[in-house]
Amino acid sequence: MTFTAQIRHQENSPLDRVDLSVVVPLYNERAVLPLLVERLTHVLAPLGVSYELVLVDDGSRDGSGDYLLELAANNPKIKAARLSRNFGKEAALTAGMDLSSGDAVVILDADLQDPPELIGTMLEAMRAGSDIVSMKRRTRAGESWGKRLSAHLFYRLMSRISHFEIPEDTGDFRLMSRRAVNALNSLPERNRYMKGLFAWVGFPTHVIEYDREARAAGTTKWKLLGLIGLALEGITSFSIVPLRWATGLGLLAALIGISFGLWIVIGALFHGNEVAGYPSLIAVITFLGGVQLLSVGLLGEYVGKTYFETKQRPLYVLRDVVQSPRLATPMSTEGTGCAESN
Ligand code: UDP
Ligand code: MG
Repeated sequence: MTFTAQIRHQENSPLDRVDLSVVVPLYNERAVLPLLVERLTHVLAPLGVSYELVLVDDGSRDGSGDYLLELAANNPKIKAARLSRNFGKEAALTAGMDLSSGDAVVILDADLQDPPELIGTMLEAMRAGSDIVSMKRRTRAGESWGKRLSAHLFYRLMSRISHFEIPEDTGDFRLMSRRAVNALNSLPERNRYMKGLFAWVGFPTHVIEYDREARAAGTTKWKLLGLIGLALEGITSFSIVPLRWATGLGLLAALIGISFGLWIVIGALFHGNEVAGYPSLIAVITFLGGVQLLSVGLLGEYVGKTYFETKQRPLYVLRDVVQSPRLATPMSTEGTGCAESN
């Protein structure tokens, strides 16, 4: 039995069950952690549900991990997990969902950009009959216009090229029923573009609009290159339409090439062949070279994905999981799930 199987078995025992698990992936969030726990506790206590906070440290280097263990040792409602290194938010999120035992699971960012105050409203929406309550950003405070514009373009592009709808402006902040979480956990793929996977599992979904707050403390972990990588990951994980674009582009280039060739040949027949045309030759060669490289690169993107899928590596490796009153238990190196950090 793998480690995950043991964990799942334990967590699913009736004794461990809680109404609500709050899963938070975090990386270098030491500055915001005390506030996060305080605000979550403040919000959750009056809701009248039993809950646990599943805080997953994604290999932080600022002491967040040790602090988490301390928190968990003193608060039985906190389940602290540390990954063996930084695996990326998607993997940390998967670890958190694997470790969660609640009948419903809410996911939110550590930096309090997703206001915990909305959890009550989300639970009400779920009680009204939805399996998934996803939160749509009406505004995004404290984010640069460049980031907003790129996010805007990305969501529009995604919804055009994937076969099912990936809701726009909806991040990871959401509430899910146990069966939706189980469906998500059962997806075997290593390339985990969570926003796409959330949409893929389906289930009746209720959308609530909210205003995204600015970070409470600390700095954003996303760099421009990371965002481009995530966008590429999202697109290539959920659509092969770009391959078709490459074919289309190739076809277009070929047609232009043939017409141009014909024009040259016919021109030479009527006007003789003056050896000229160096600029047009270079233009054609570079254009075709560009199209070919682009298409091969695109193809490579998909081949690379297949490569990582076939390796069947776990998504993440757990260093330890602590929940009071139990003490830290060093884990075997075998983890679960699976996303290659690309
Ligand atoms: N995060 C993570 N692993 C990473 C990067 C980020 O677990 O490698 C977490 C981070 O701690 C935060 C969430 O993912 O809880 C969102 O990150 P951030 O706020 O930096 O992204 P933004 O809100 O700026 O898109
Ligand atoms: Mg943030």
